Amino acid sequence: MGYLVLTRKYRPQNFNEVVGQKHVTQTLMSALRHGRVGHSYLFAGPRGVGKTSVARILAKSLNCEKGVVENPCNECETCISITKGSAIDVIEIDGASNRGIDEIRDLREAVAYSPSSARYKVYIIDEVHMLTKEAFNALLKTLEEPPSHVVFIFATTEPQKVPKTVLSRCQRFDFRMLTEKEIFSKLESLVELESIDTDEETLNLLATRAEGSIRDAEGMLEQLVSYSEGRITIGDAKEVFGFIGEESYMKLFEGISNRDEKIIIEGVEDIIQKGYDLRELVYGWLQFIRKLLLYNLDIPDPTSVEINKDLKRLAKSVSPEFITAVLNLSTDMEKDIRNIPYSQVFIDLSMLRMARIPDLRDINTLIEELGGHRTEEKKKSYTKREETLTEVKEEPLTDVGELWQRIIKTIDKTNGKNFFKSFLKEVEPVSFSNNRLELNVPSSHKEHLKEDIHLLKEACKETFGFDVEVDIITTQESVGEALKDDPMIKKIKEIFNAEEYI
Ligand SMILES: [Zn+2]
Repeated sequence: MGYLVLTRKYRPQNFNEVVGQKHVTQTLMSALRHGRVGHSYLFAGPRGVGKTSVARILAKSLNCEKGVVENPCNECETCISITKGSAIDVIEIDGASNRGIDEIRDLREAVAYSPSSARYKVYIIDEVHMLTKEAFNALLKTLEEPPSHVVFIFATTEPQKVPKTVLSRCQRFDFRMLTEKEIFSKLESLVELESIDTDEETLNLLATRAEGSIRDAEGMLEQLVSYSEGRITIGDAKEVFGFIGEESYMKLFEGISNRDEKIIIEGVEDIIQKGYDLRELVYGWLQFIRKLLLYNLDIPDPTSVEINKDLKRLAKSVSPEFITAVLNLSTDMEKDIRNIPYSQVFIDLSMLRMARIPDLRDINTLIEELGGHRTEEKKKSYTKREETLTEVKEEPLTDVGELWQRIIKTIDKTNGKNFFKSFLKEVEPVSFSNNRLELNVPSSHKEHLKEDIHLLKEACKETFGFDVEVDIITTQESVGEALKDDPMIKKIKEIFNAEEYI
Protein backbone atom coordinates (compact mmCIF):
# COMPACT_ATOMS: atom_id res chain seq x y z
CA MET A 1 0.00 0.00 0.00
CA GLY A 2 1.50 3.30 -1.07
CA TYR A 3 1.72 6.39 1.09
CA LEU A 4 -1.53 8.36 1.40
CA VAL A 5 -3.56 5.72 -0.38
CA LEU A 6 -5.69 5.30 2.73
CA THR A 7 -6.43 9.01 2.92
CA ARG A 8 -7.49 9.12 -0.68
CA LYS A 9 -9.45 5.91 -0.53
CA TYR A 10 -11.48 6.96 2.47
CA ARG A 11 -11.82 10.65 1.78
CA PRO A 12 -15.39 11.68 2.69
CA GLN A 13 -17.61 11.75 -0.38
CA ASN A 14 -20.61 13.50 1.13
CA PHE A 15 -21.20 15.96 3.95
CA ASN A 16 -22.42 13.27 6.35
CA GLU A 17 -19.09 11.49 6.15
CA VAL A 18 -17.08 14.55 7.17
CA VAL A 19 -15.73 14.10 10.70
CA GLY A 20 -15.92 16.84 13.31
CA GLN A 21 -17.06 19.80 11.19
CA LYS A 22 -20.80 19.59 11.67
CA HIS A 23 -21.12 23.35 12.18
CA VAL A 24 -19.78 23.80 8.65
CA THR A 25 -21.48 20.95 6.83
CA GLN A 26 -24.92 21.62 8.30
CA THR A 27 -24.85 25.26 7.24
CA LEU A 28 -23.70 24.35 3.76
CA MET A 29 -26.31 21.61 3.40
CA SER A 30 -29.07 23.95 4.50
CA ALA A 31 -27.93 26.62 2.01
CA LEU A 32 -27.83 24.05 -0.79
CA ARG A 33 -31.27 22.75 0.15
CA HIS A 34 -32.65 26.24 -0.21
CA GLY A 35 -30.72 26.90 -3.39
CA ARG A 36 -28.71 29.71 -1.78
CA VAL A 37 -25.42 29.51 -3.59
CA GLY A 38 -22.67 31.94 -2.65
CA HIS A 39 -20.00 33.07 -5.06
CA SER A 40 -17.03 32.90 -2.79
CA TYR A 41 -16.37 30.82 0.27
CA LEU A 42 -13.42 30.90 2.61
CA PHE A 43 -12.58 27.73 4.52
CA ALA A 44 -10.19 28.56 7.34
CA GLY A 45 -8.65 26.12 9.79
CA PRO A 46 -5.67 23.94 10.68
CA ARG A 47 -4.15 21.52 8.22
CA GLY A 48 -5.57 18.09 7.62
CA VAL A 49 -9.04 18.68 9.06
CA GLY A 50 -11.10 18.37 5.87
CA LYS A 51 -11.16 21.77 4.17
CA THR A 52 -10.37 20.50 0.65
CA SER A 53 -12.57 17.46 1.10
CA VAL A 54 -15.53 19.70 1.97
CA ALA A 55 -14.65 21.97 -0.97
CA ARG A 56 -14.85 19.00 -3.35
CA ILE A 57 -18.13 17.79 -1.89
CA LEU A 58 -19.52 21.29 -2.29
CA ALA A 59 -18.34 21.36 -5.92
CA LYS A 60 -20.15 18.07 -6.49
CA SER A 61 -23.33 19.24 -4.76
CA LEU A 62 -23.38 22.30 -7.01
CA ASN A 63 -22.81 20.32 -10.18
CA CYS A 64 -24.45 16.97 -9.54
CA GLU A 65 -26.61 15.94 -12.48
CA LYS A 66 -29.49 15.38 -10.05
CA GLY A 67 -29.59 19.15 -9.51
CA VAL A 68 -28.16 21.41 -6.81
CA VAL A 69 -28.47 18.98 -3.91
CA GLU A 70 -27.60 19.01 -0.22
CA ASN A 71 -25.50 15.90 -0.79
CA PRO A 72 -24.05 14.73 -4.11
CA CYS A 73 -25.21 11.45 -5.58
CA ASN A 74 -21.62 10.33 -6.29
CA GLU A 75 -22.98 8.17 -9.10
CA CYS A 76 -23.51 10.53 -12.02
CA GLU A 77 -20.70 11.22 -14.46
CA THR A 78 -20.09 14.72 -13.15
CA CYS A 79 -19.82 13.53 -9.53
CA ILE A 80 -17.50 10.72 -10.55
CA SER A 81 -15.25 12.98 -12.60
CA ILE A 82 -14.97 15.46 -9.71
CA THR A 83 -14.05 12.61 -7.34
CA LYS A 84 -11.39 11.47 -9.80
CA GLY A 85 -10.11 15.01 -10.20
CA SER A 86 -10.73 15.01 -13.95
CA ALA A 87 -13.68 17.40 -14.14
CA ILE A 88 -12.90 20.30 -16.50
CA ASP A 89 -15.13 22.72 -14.65
CA VAL A 90 -13.75 22.10 -11.18
CA ILE A 91 -10.31 23.64 -11.09
CA GLU A 92 -8.00 23.13 -8.14
CA ILE A 93 -5.19 25.60 -7.75
CA ASP A 94 -2.42 25.37 -5.18
CA GLY A 95 -1.93 28.91 -3.95
CA ALA A 96 1.56 28.07 -2.74
CA SER A 97 2.93 27.23 -6.20
CA ASN A 98 0.71 29.45 -8.35
CA ARG A 99 0.98 32.59 -6.38
CA GLY A 100 1.79 35.20 -9.00
CA ILE A 101 -0.16 37.70 -11.00
CA ASP A 102 0.17 35.75 -14.28
CA GLU A 103 -1.67 32.77 -12.92
CA ILE A 104 -4.46 34.96 -11.59
CA ARG A 105 -4.66 36.83 -14.93
CA ASP A 106 -5.06 33.49 -16.70
CA LEU A 107 -7.70 32.61 -14.16
CA ARG A 108 -9.55 35.87 -14.78
CA GLU A 109 -9.64 35.22 -18.49
CA ALA A 110 -10.84 31.68 -18.02
CA VAL A 111 -13.51 32.77 -15.55
CA ALA A 112 -15.26 34.69 -18.30
CA TYR A 113 -16.10 31.54 -20.22
CA SER A 114 -19.13 29.49 -19.28
CA PRO A 115 -18.60 26.04 -17.85
CA SER A 116 -18.22 23.44 -20.58
CA SER A 117 -20.64 20.89 -19.23
CA ALA A 118 -21.33 21.54 -15.57
CA ARG A 119 -23.67 24.04 -13.95
CA TYR A 120 -20.91 26.00 -12.20
CA LYS A 121 -17.26 26.59 -12.76
CA VAL A 122 -15.76 25.96 -9.34
CA TYR A 123 -12.29 27.25 -8.46
CA ILE A 124 -10.78 25.70 -5.38
CA ILE A 125 -7.70 27.69 -4.35
CA ASP A 126 -5.79 25.99 -1.57
CA GLU A 127 -3.42 27.94 0.70
CA VAL A 128 -4.86 31.13 -0.73
CA HIS A 129 -2.92 33.27 1.77
CA MET A 130 0.24 32.50 -0.23
CA LEU A 131 -0.86 34.59 -3.20
CA THR A 132 1.10 37.76 -3.86
CA LYS A 133 -0.40 41.17 -3.27
CA GLU A 134 -0.72 41.75 -7.04
CA ALA A 135 -2.41 38.41 -7.47
CA PHE A 136 -4.88 39.28 -4.71
CA ASN A 137 -5.65 42.60 -6.40
CA ALA A 138 -6.31 40.89 -9.69
CA LEU A 139 -8.48 38.32 -7.95
CA LEU A 140 -10.41 41.02 -6.17
CA LYS A 141 -11.65 42.47 -9.45
CA THR A 142 -13.23 39.13 -10.29
CA LEU A 143 -14.69 38.80 -6.82
CA GLU A 144 -16.25 42.23 -7.07
CA GLU A 145 -18.25 41.28 -10.16
CA PRO A 146 -18.35 37.51 -10.27
CA PRO A 147 -20.01 35.92 -13.29
CA SER A 148 -23.11 34.05 -12.13
CA HIS A 149 -21.68 30.69 -13.20
CA VAL A 150 -18.52 30.93 -11.07
CA VAL A 151 -17.98 29.81 -7.49
CA PHE A 152 -14.70 30.36 -5.63
CA ILE A 153 -13.73 28.23 -2.67
CA PHE A 154 -10.62 29.44 -0.88
CA ALA A 155 -8.93 27.29 1.72
CA THR A 156 -6.34 28.61 4.16
CA THR A 157 -4.52 27.73 7.33
CA GLU A 158 -3.74 31.41 7.89
CA PRO A 159 -6.85 33.53 7.32
CA GLN A 160 -5.18 36.51 9.00
CA LYS A 161 -2.88 36.76 5.98
CA VAL A 162 -5.76 37.07 3.54
CA PRO A 163 -6.47 40.75 2.71
CA LYS A 164 -9.59 42.17 4.35
CA THR A 165 -10.90 43.26 0.95
CA VAL A 166 -10.96 39.61 -0.10
CA LEU A 167 -12.25 38.32 3.25
CA SER A 168 -15.17 40.73 3.18
CA ARG A 169 -16.40 39.23 -0.08
CA CYS A 170 -16.39 35.66 1.19
CA GLN A 171 -18.70 33.56 3.29
CA ARG A 172 -16.31 32.37 5.92
CA PHE A 173 -16.35 28.93 7.57
CA ASP A 174 -13.96 28.07 10.35
CA PHE A 175 -12.91 24.44 10.55
CA ARG A 176 -11.78 23.18 13.90
CA MET A 177 -9.08 20.80 15.06
CA LEU A 178 -10.39 17.31 15.54
CA THR A 179 -10.51 15.79 19.00
CA GLU A 180 -8.49 12.70 19.87
CA LYS A 181 -11.74 10.84 20.20
CA GLU A 182 -12.88 11.76 16.69
CA ILE A 183 -9.55 10.80 15.19
CA PHE A 184 -9.54 7.58 17.17
CA SER A 185 -13.00 6.60 15.85
CA LYS A 186 -11.94 7.38 12.30
CA LEU A 187 -8.80 5.26 12.67
CA GLU A 188 -10.83 2.48 14.23
CA SER A 189 -13.15 2.36 11.24
CA LEU A 190 -10.20 2.43 8.80
CA VAL A 191 -8.58 -0.46 10.62
CA GLU A 192 -11.77 -2.43 10.36
CA LEU A 193 -12.38 -1.64 6.68
CA GLU A 194 -8.83 -2.55 5.71
CA SER A 195 -8.53 -5.49 8.13
CA ILE A 196 -5.40 -3.99 9.66
CA ASP A 197 -4.14 -5.97 12.65
CA THR A 198 -3.48 -3.62 15.56
CA ASP A 199 -4.87 -2.63 18.96
CA GLU A 200 -6.65 0.24 20.69
CA GLU A 201 -3.55 1.33 22.57
CA THR A 202 -1.67 1.95 19.34
CA LEU A 203 -4.55 3.81 17.71
CA ASN A 204 -4.93 5.85 20.86
CA LEU A 205 -1.30 6.92 20.67
CA LEU A 206 -1.64 7.90 17.01
CA ALA A 207 -4.81 9.86 17.78
CA THR A 208 -3.02 11.75 20.55
CA ARG A 209 -0.03 12.54 18.40
CA ALA A 210 -1.93 13.62 15.27
CA GLU A 211 -2.45 17.03 16.88
CA GLY A 212 -5.99 17.37 15.61
CA SER A 213 -5.21 16.45 12.01
CA ILE A 214 -7.02 13.47 10.62
CA ARG A 215 -4.74 13.47 7.60
CA ASP A 216 -1.66 13.14 9.78
CA ALA A 217 -3.27 10.32 11.73
CA GLU A 218 -4.12 8.43 8.56
CA GLY A 219 -0.64 9.07 7.19
CA MET A 220 0.92 7.63 10.34
CA LEU A 221 -1.29 4.57 10.25
CA GLU A 222 -0.34 4.01 6.65
CA GLN A 223 3.36 4.30 7.36
CA LEU A 224 2.97 1.71 10.08
CA VAL A 225 1.15 -0.62 7.70
CA SER A 226 4.09 -0.55 5.32
CA TYR A 227 6.57 -0.83 8.20
CA SER A 228 5.23 -3.83 10.07
CA GLU A 229 5.08 -7.28 8.66
CA GLY A 230 2.14 -8.47 10.69
CA ARG A 231 0.49 -6.99 13.71
CA ILE A 232 1.10 -3.29 14.36
CA THR A 233 2.10 -2.76 17.99
CA ILE A 234 2.54 0.31 20.13
CA GLY A 235 6.27 -0.48 20.07
CA ASP A 236 6.23 -0.07 16.27
CA ALA A 237 4.54 3.30 16.59
CA LYS A 238 7.07 4.50 19.16
CA GLU A 239 9.96 3.25 17.07
CA VAL A 240 8.81 4.64 13.73
CA PHE A 241 7.75 8.05 14.98
CA GLY A 242 10.06 8.43 17.96
CA PHE A 243 7.22 8.83 20.45
CA ILE A 244 8.23 8.71 24.06
CA GLY A 245 6.07 6.42 26.14
CA GLU A 246 3.98 7.79 28.97
CA GLU A 247 5.77 5.58 31.49
CA SER A 248 9.01 7.53 30.93
CA TYR A 249 7.20 10.78 31.67
CA MET A 250 5.53 9.29 34.72
CA LYS A 251 8.90 8.36 36.11
CA LEU A 252 10.23 11.86 35.45
CA PHE A 253 7.22 13.46 37.10
CA GLU A 254 7.60 11.25 40.16
CA GLY A 255 11.20 12.40 40.37
CA ILE A 256 10.05 15.99 40.27
CA SER A 257 7.26 15.66 42.82
CA ASN A 258 9.50 13.69 45.19
CA ARG A 259 12.31 16.20 44.65
CA ASP A 260 14.54 13.31 43.73
CA GLU A 261 17.24 14.84 41.58
CA LYS A 262 18.88 11.53 40.80
CA ILE A 263 15.69 10.09 39.32
CA ILE A 264 15.23 13.22 37.21
CA ILE A 265 18.72 13.18 35.71
CA GLU A 266 18.49 9.43 35.11
CA GLY A 267 15.04 9.81 33.57
CA VAL A 268 16.21 12.41 31.07
CA GLU A 269 19.36 10.42 30.30
CA ASP A 270 17.31 7.30 29.79
CA ILE A 271 15.11 9.00 27.19
CA ILE A 272 18.12 10.50 25.38
CA GLN A 273 19.90 7.14 25.40
CA LYS A 274 16.99 5.62 23.57
CA GLY A 275 17.73 8.08 20.80
CA TYR A 276 14.77 10.37 21.21
CA ASP A 277 14.86 13.90 19.95
CA LEU A 278 14.98 16.56 22.67
CA ARG A 279 12.21 18.55 21.08
CA GLU A 280 10.00 15.48 20.96
CA LEU A 281 10.81 14.99 24.64
CA VAL A 282 9.71 18.51 25.49
CA TYR A 283 6.64 18.47 23.28
CA GLY A 284 5.44 15.14 24.66
CA TRP A 285 6.17 16.34 28.18
CA LEU A 286 3.91 19.38 27.75
CA GLN A 287 1.06 17.20 26.54
CA PHE A 288 1.65 14.87 29.44
CA ILE A 289 1.54 17.63 32.07
CA ARG A 290 -1.56 19.11 30.54
CA LYS A 291 -3.22 15.73 30.79
CA LEU A 292 -2.10 15.37 34.42
CA LEU A 293 -3.71 18.68 35.29
CA LEU A 294 -7.01 17.61 33.76
CA TYR A 295 -6.88 14.35 35.70
CA ASN A 296 -6.04 16.20 38.88
CA LEU A 297 -8.95 18.59 38.48
CA ASP A 298 -11.33 15.75 37.56
CA ILE A 299 -12.11 17.48 34.34
CA PRO A 300 -13.19 14.76 31.98
CA ASP A 301 -11.10 15.52 28.91
CA PRO A 302 -13.61 15.40 26.04
CA THR A 303 -10.81 14.74 23.58
CA SER A 304 -9.34 11.79 25.40
CA VAL A 305 -10.24 8.24 24.61
CA GLU A 306 -9.84 6.44 27.89
CA ILE A 307 -8.93 6.94 31.51
CA ASN A 308 -5.50 5.81 32.56
CA LYS A 309 -5.69 4.72 36.20
CA ASP A 310 -1.96 5.01 36.88
CA LEU A 311 -1.96 8.49 35.46
CA LYS A 312 -4.91 9.46 37.59
CA ARG A 313 -3.22 8.17 40.72
CA LEU A 314 -0.09 10.12 39.90
CA ALA A 315 -2.09 13.27 39.18
CA LYS A 316 -3.91 12.99 42.50
CA SER A 317 -0.67 12.61 44.45
CA VAL A 318 0.06 16.33 44.08
CA SER A 319 -1.89 19.58 44.24
CA PRO A 320 -3.32 21.33 41.17
CA GLU A 321 -1.15 24.31 42.08
CA PHE A 322 1.95 22.19 41.84
CA ILE A 323 1.00 20.85 38.41
CA THR A 324 0.12 24.33 37.21
CA ALA A 325 3.52 25.58 38.33
CA VAL A 326 5.19 22.65 36.53
CA LEU A 327 3.12 23.39 33.43
CA ASN A 328 4.21 26.99 33.54
CA LEU A 329 7.90 26.11 33.74
CA SER A 330 7.37 23.51 31.01
CA THR A 331 5.93 26.12 28.67
CA ASP A 332 9.04 28.21 29.24
CA MET A 333 11.17 25.17 28.51
CA GLU A 334 9.25 24.54 25.30
CA LYS A 335 9.80 28.14 24.19
CA ASP A 336 13.51 28.04 24.95
CA ILE A 337 14.30 24.65 23.43
CA ARG A 338 13.64 26.14 19.99
CA ASN A 339 16.79 28.20 20.38
CA ILE A 340 18.95 25.46 21.86
CA PRO A 341 17.58 22.26 20.39
CA TYR A 342 20.53 20.05 21.28
CA SER A 343 21.16 20.92 24.89
CA GLN A 344 20.50 18.09 27.27
CA VAL A 345 21.88 20.17 30.12
CA PHE A 346 19.14 22.68 29.49
CA ILE A 347 16.51 19.98 29.85
CA ASP A 348 18.17 18.70 33.03
CA LEU A 349 18.21 22.17 34.53
CA SER A 350 14.64 22.91 33.57
CA MET A 351 13.43 19.68 35.14
CA LEU A 352 15.49 20.25 38.29
CA ARG A 353 13.96 23.69 38.58
CA MET A 354 10.54 22.06 38.55
CA ALA A 355 11.62 19.86 41.45
CA ARG A 356 12.29 23.02 43.45
CA ILE A 357 8.79 24.34 43.20
CA PRO A 358 7.66 24.62 46.82
CA ASP A 359 4.77 22.49 47.93
CA LEU A 360 1.79 24.73 47.41
CA ARG A 361 -1.05 22.77 48.75
CA ASP A 362 -2.81 25.89 49.78
CA ILE A 363 -1.69 28.66 47.50
CA ASN A 364 -4.62 30.90 48.36
CA THR A 365 -3.77 30.89 52.01
CA LEU A 366 -0.17 31.62 51.16
CA ILE A 367 -1.04 34.54 48.94
CA GLU A 368 -3.50 35.90 51.47
CA GLU A 369 -0.94 35.64 54.19
CA LEU A 370 1.55 37.50 52.07
CA GLY A 371 -0.92 40.28 51.56
CA GLY A 372 -2.26 40.23 55.09
CA HIS A 373 -5.67 38.98 53.93
CA ARG A 374 -7.24 35.99 55.47
CA THR A 375 -10.28 34.00 54.56
CA GLU A 376 -13.05 33.22 57.01
CA GLU A 377 -11.72 29.73 57.37
CA LYS A 378 -8.30 31.00 58.24
CA LYS A 379 -9.76 33.40 60.78
CA LYS A 380 -11.58 30.52 62.36
CA SER A 381 -8.40 28.56 62.78
CA TYR A 382 -6.77 31.54 64.43
CA THR A 383 -9.78 31.87 66.71
CA LYS A 384 -9.36 28.27 67.65
CA ARG A 385 -5.81 28.98 68.54
CA GLU A 386 -6.86 31.70 70.96
CA GLU A 387 -9.28 29.32 72.64
CA THR A 388 -6.49 26.82 73.03
CA LEU A 389 -4.35 29.51 74.59
CA THR A 390 -7.11 30.18 77.11
CA GLU A 391 -7.23 26.52 77.98
CA VAL A 392 -3.52 26.52 78.50
CA LYS A 393 -3.86 29.41 80.94
CA GLU A 394 -6.34 27.37 82.92
CA GLU A 395 -3.70 24.73 83.44
CA PRO A 396 -1.28 26.55 85.71
CA LEU A 397 1.18 23.69 85.91
CA THR A 398 1.88 23.60 82.23
CA ASP A 399 4.30 26.14 80.88
CA VAL A 400 4.61 25.41 77.19
CA GLY A 401 7.96 27.19 76.93
CA GLU A 402 9.41 25.03 79.64
CA LEU A 403 8.01 21.85 78.05
CA TRP A 404 9.52 22.85 74.72
CA GLN A 405 12.95 23.32 76.28
CA ARG A 406 12.74 19.80 77.66
CA ILE A 407 11.96 18.44 74.20
CA ILE A 408 14.85 20.39 72.68
CA LYS A 409 17.18 18.98 75.29
CA THR A 410 16.14 15.45 74.40
CA ILE A 411 16.79 16.11 70.71
CA ASP A 412 20.14 17.76 71.40
CA LYS A 413 21.26 14.59 73.13
CA THR A 414 20.73 12.54 69.95
CA ASN A 415 23.50 12.21 67.43
CA GLY A 416 23.50 14.02 64.10
CA LYS A 417 20.37 15.75 62.84
CA ASN A 418 22.20 19.07 63.08
CA PHE A 419 20.09 20.69 60.44
CA PHE A 420 16.94 19.62 62.21
CA LYS A 421 18.27 20.85 65.55
CA SER A 422 19.23 24.22 64.18
CA PHE A 423 15.90 25.11 62.70
CA LEU A 424 14.01 23.86 65.74
CA LYS A 425 15.58 26.86 67.51
CA GLU A 426 13.47 29.13 65.34
CA VAL A 427 10.29 27.34 66.27
CA GLU A 428 8.04 29.03 68.78
CA PRO A 429 5.91 26.81 71.02
CA VAL A 430 2.35 28.08 71.30
CA SER A 431 0.38 25.71 73.42
CA PHE A 432 0.27 22.28 74.91
CA SER A 433 -3.07 20.80 75.76
CA ASN A 434 -4.77 17.39 75.61
CA ASN A 435 -1.52 15.85 74.44
CA ARG A 436 -1.37 18.24 71.52
CA LEU A 437 1.61 20.47 71.01
CA GLU A 438 1.06 23.49 68.82
CA LEU A 439 4.09 25.09 67.20
CA ASN A 440 4.51 28.30 65.31
CA VAL A 441 6.99 27.56 62.53
CA PRO A 442 8.52 30.00 60.03
CA SER A 443 7.10 28.97 56.69
CA SER A 444 10.58 28.42 55.27
CA HIS A 445 10.99 25.55 57.71
CA LYS A 446 7.47 24.22 57.61
CA GLU A 447 8.22 21.59 55.01
CA HIS A 448 11.42 20.45 56.70
CA LEU A 449 9.62 20.02 59.95
CA LYS A 450 6.81 18.10 58.30
CA GLU A 451 9.31 15.77 56.72
CA ASP A 452 11.03 15.04 60.02
CA ILE A 453 7.99 15.26 62.23
CA HIS A 454 8.54 11.68 63.41
CA LEU A 455 11.84 12.75 65.00
CA LEU A 456 10.02 15.38 66.97
CA LYS A 457 7.30 12.98 68.03
CA GLU A 458 9.89 10.43 69.15
CA ALA A 459 11.59 13.10 71.21
CA CYS A 460 8.26 14.05 72.79
CA LYS A 461 7.56 10.46 73.72
CA GLU A 462 11.00 10.08 75.19
CA THR A 463 10.61 13.29 77.18
CA PHE A 464 7.06 12.77 78.50
CA GLY A 465 6.56 9.04 78.18
CA PHE A 466 3.39 9.33 76.08
CA ASP A 467 2.43 10.08 72.45
CA VAL A 468 2.05 13.72 71.55
CA GLU A 469 0.38 15.11 68.45
CA VAL A 470 2.07 18.10 66.85
CA ASP A 471 0.12 20.88 65.12
CA ILE A 472 2.03 23.29 62.96
CA ILE A 473 0.87 26.83 62.34
CA THR A 474 2.53 29.61 60.42
CA THR A 475 2.15 33.28 61.15
CA GLN A 476 1.88 36.09 58.72
CA GLU A 477 5.22 37.68 59.60
CA SER A 478 7.30 34.59 59.16
CA VAL A 479 5.71 33.76 55.83
CA GLY A 480 6.20 37.28 54.61
CA GLU A 481 9.81 37.43 55.65
CA ALA A 482 10.72 34.09 54.19
CA LEU A 483 8.85 34.19 50.94
CA LYS A 484 8.18 37.72 49.87
CA ASP A 485 11.26 37.81 47.68
CA ASP A 486 11.24 34.21 46.57
CA PRO A 487 11.30 34.27 42.76
CA MET A 488 9.17 31.17 42.63
CA ILE A 489 6.47 32.80 44.73
CA LYS A 490 6.57 35.82 42.45
CA LYS A 491 6.06 33.49 39.51
CA ILE A 492 3.18 31.76 41.22
CA LYS A 493 1.58 35.07 41.95
CA GLU A 494 1.76 35.75 38.26
CA ILE A 495 0.24 32.40 37.37
CA PHE A 496 -2.68 32.90 39.67
CA ASN A 497 -2.95 36.56 38.82
CA ALA A 498 -2.84 37.32 42.50
CA GLU A 499 -1.37 40.82 42.29
CA GLU A 500 -4.55 42.41 43.60
CA TYR A 501 -4.06 40.75 46.96
CA ILE A 502 -0.51 41.87 47.37
ZN1 LIG B 1 -24.17 13.35 -8.98
